[in-house]
Amino acid sequence: MQNQQTYRESTKRAKEPAKMLKFGKNTGFQIELTRRVNELFQTTGLRERDCPQMYLKTAILLLSFLVVYVSLVFLAQAWWVVLSLSILLGLVMAGIGFNIQHDGSHNAYSNYPWVNKLMAATMDLIGFSSYYWLWGHTVLHHKYVNITGYDTDFDLGTLARKTPFQPWLPHHRWQHYYIWLLYGVYPIHWHFVSDFESFFLEEFYDRHYPRPKGVNLAIFLVGKAVFFTLAFGLPLMFHSVWTVLMCYVVTSFTLGIVLNVVFLYAHEVEEATFPMPLEDTGIIENDWAIHQIETTVNFPCNHLMTWFVGGLNYQIEHHLFPNICHVNYPAISRVVEETCQEFGVKYKKHKSIWAGISSHFHWMRRLGMANTMSI
Ligand SMILES: [Zn+2]
Repeated sequence: MQNQQTYRESTKRAKEPAKMLKFGKNTGFQIELTRRVNELFQTTGLRERDCPQMYLKTAILLLSFLVVYVSLVFLAQAWWVVLSLSILLGLVMAGIGFNIQHDGSHNAYSNYPWVNKLMAATMDLIGFSSYYWLWGHTVLHHKYVNITGYDTDFDLGTLARKTPFQPWLPHHRWQHYYIWLLYGVYPIHWHFVSDFESFFLEEFYDRHYPRPKGVNLAIFLVGKAVFFTLAFGLPLMFHSVWTVLMCYVVTSFTLGIVLNVVFLYAHEVEEATFPMPLEDTGIIENDWAIHQIETTVNFPCNHLMTWFVGGLNYQIEHHLFPNICHVNYPAISRVVEETCQEFGVKYKKHKSIWAGISSHFHWMRRLGMANTMSI
């Protein structure tokens, strides 16, 4: 009963307007870091946006999407080929999400706003509204990362306890096992529920948010029409309902696991911090840039994996400079790490991808234990 009460209080807090939250005084760290990164671009000739390798990557990923989709719907016969192509399609869709839409939605793809808008709209192609993604990810998550009640990435309702400041419920003791199933189901929920709920109720994660208008409305409607035609309309003309549903589930599950693992374990791990604003002033004590670094953990990848995940293994750099094209993160990371050392800011990296996954598993288990880290 007490937990239910606490849950209601926590939900109420989440509805407080995000604009009330402020960060502490600039310590000089951010100014110096920005100066050094600007200098990097001026002295090396690197381009912040409109990078040729990004346009090439876009062509490769969209062409891969077309080839895999056509092969799956029109050519594949054997069950194992269908299964493999369904998984591959999920991976290519994740690649589009990590690279093209993500840079577009952060205005990091191009200096031309219409190019960014077009690239961000590839999110609609893979079944998520770019309009609502922009609000949840680019605004709330990025600005208020790891702050309970503000960062919407934590919001799984009562299904999981993802920060020490969310109330504990008995079923959370198994969350480190079943959370992976929720990650897999996440795209299906988004495709059929989240976007439509946000659209018709004019609410997004308990916050009032207006329906898209004009160009945004057109992208929303055309995006939904294209996605549902590709996912169900066209395949159903050639295959049975069960075959189409199975392929959709396998593709979506792959997409969900990969998206969540890469996006979440940079923040929802034992090494990250989970600050809360001061009760009386509503201020987060830290400098904004230091807050971003302390709540984020990088992970090492080889070149191919870095290419695939859109540089999101450099999450610290992404959070500090979200409007710079991700192909520049490896170069920026050297400047960031050096500046952190000088200013005594802890720059955290997982030892490997698996170490990051393991840390997320252990963090979920700790949060799921009764009477630990309760608010
Ligand atoms: Zn981002």
